[in-house]
Amino acid sequence: MEAIKSHDHRHVFYRNVRIEQWTDWVWQQKFAIRTLKDLVQLYPGLSQERQTGLAEYLQRFRFQLTPYLISQFKCESGLPTLSDPIARQFFPDAALLPSDAADAFHGYHENWEHSEEFPTQLLHHKYAYKALLDVTDTCLAYCSYCFKVARTLDMEKEKNGFNKSGEWQNTLVYLRDHPEINEVILSGGDPMILSNSKLAQVLKALREIESIKIIRIHTRCLSHNPFRFDEEFITLCKTHDVTAIVFHVACTEEITPEFKAAVALFDRYGYGSILKCAQIPFLHDVNDSTEKLRQLLLLLVQIKIIPIHLFHAMPFTPGVNLFRPKVEKGRKILSEIRRHDSSLIIPMYEIVHQTGKYEIPIDGTTESDSNSLHYGDLDGHPTVEFTNYLGKKVIYLDGCA
Ligand code: SF4
Repeated sequence: MEAIKSHDHRHVFYRNVRIEQWTDWVWQQKFAIRTLKDLVQLYPGLSQERQTGLAEYLQRFRFQLTPYLISQFKCESGLPTLSDPIARQFFPDAALLPSDAADAFHGYHENWEHSEEFPTQLLHHKYAYKALLDVTDTCLAYCSYCFKVARTLDMEKEKNGFNKSGEWQNTLVYLRDHPEINEVILSGGDPMILSNSKLAQVLKALREIESIKIIRIHTRCLSHNPFRFDEEFITLCKTHDVTAIVFHVACTEEITPEFKAAVALFDRYGYGSILKCAQIPFLHDVNDSTEKLRQLLLLLVQIKIIPIHLFHAMPFTPGVNLFRPKVEKGRKILSEIRRHDSSLIIPMYEIVHQTGKYEIPIDGTTESDSNSLHYGDLDGHPTVEFTNYLGKKVIYLDGCA
């Protein structure tokens, strides 16, 4: 059966796993790999040098690989390599450790989240009319370049979540007291790590607040564990009128038969009218070529998912030297695609800066345009300078690849 191809390609470590277990999302989470010992069992060929590097990595950051994700790795000599776009995003490696580069993660300087923007531990209220509801700091697997690293990957940081006492009730009070918020985005971590009953509790409470018109769910679960979607989840989306589901996806290799089968469940269980969108991190050697990005955008639209955002890989994240292309590279690629391809496949290209998102102009930027971006240099590091939505000139550390 095409929809469970990953079972045919499962690692020998899982050779006795039955198909019913393999396709059970809870089983996938229970048997996710999280320790060096388990990695060495899976990949006995890991050199001592690589194991030492991994041990160092694991003192600093978490990793988590579901058996499904492991089945997607293309290996060389039996080992996942950073040249495979899937392994590159998810397999831990010492090369991801913070360096002394100006844009390396150091645990205190980050892109996006500031304590004064959090009226409760769960709610990120940055823009006037919408708010992010971070129902968990946990994900079904972890992306090495995570832009929320301080909450998801960093071993030194305590995790928050929906269960923390009082925070959920305080969040509902804040949302009721702020009727200007018309959109709530369920985010995390990954909200799909919650059970259906917990999600139903969240959605029901949000739908009881009349001023909230739009509810979005953001998830990477179809790349990490596509068996998470089921009839009950689709039904609760329909019952609580979830407006949109936004998939985080980076390369065509992630769009497996299992991924497509999970997306098709919305049609099968009577909620095909939900808006299906994608946001794409722009990552070096994963999708930073015209052809790779074009193929991904086309494939998404073919399966009725509209790509809405291409996010430039962020500074102050692990592996910045591996993952961050130059902004100019993204502009050239998107300009090329925009000139020749369907307008349905063109996402907004954005920088996420700590003062807010900035849409990168694709064509026709001139030095005289006050909204345009300018390239610069800060102590030898390339920068992009632009005027943010508050009218302030800001500097963003550019990638180097
Ligand atoms: S799923 Fe999102 S929050 Fe979780 S590790 Fe990946 S990028 Fe970070």
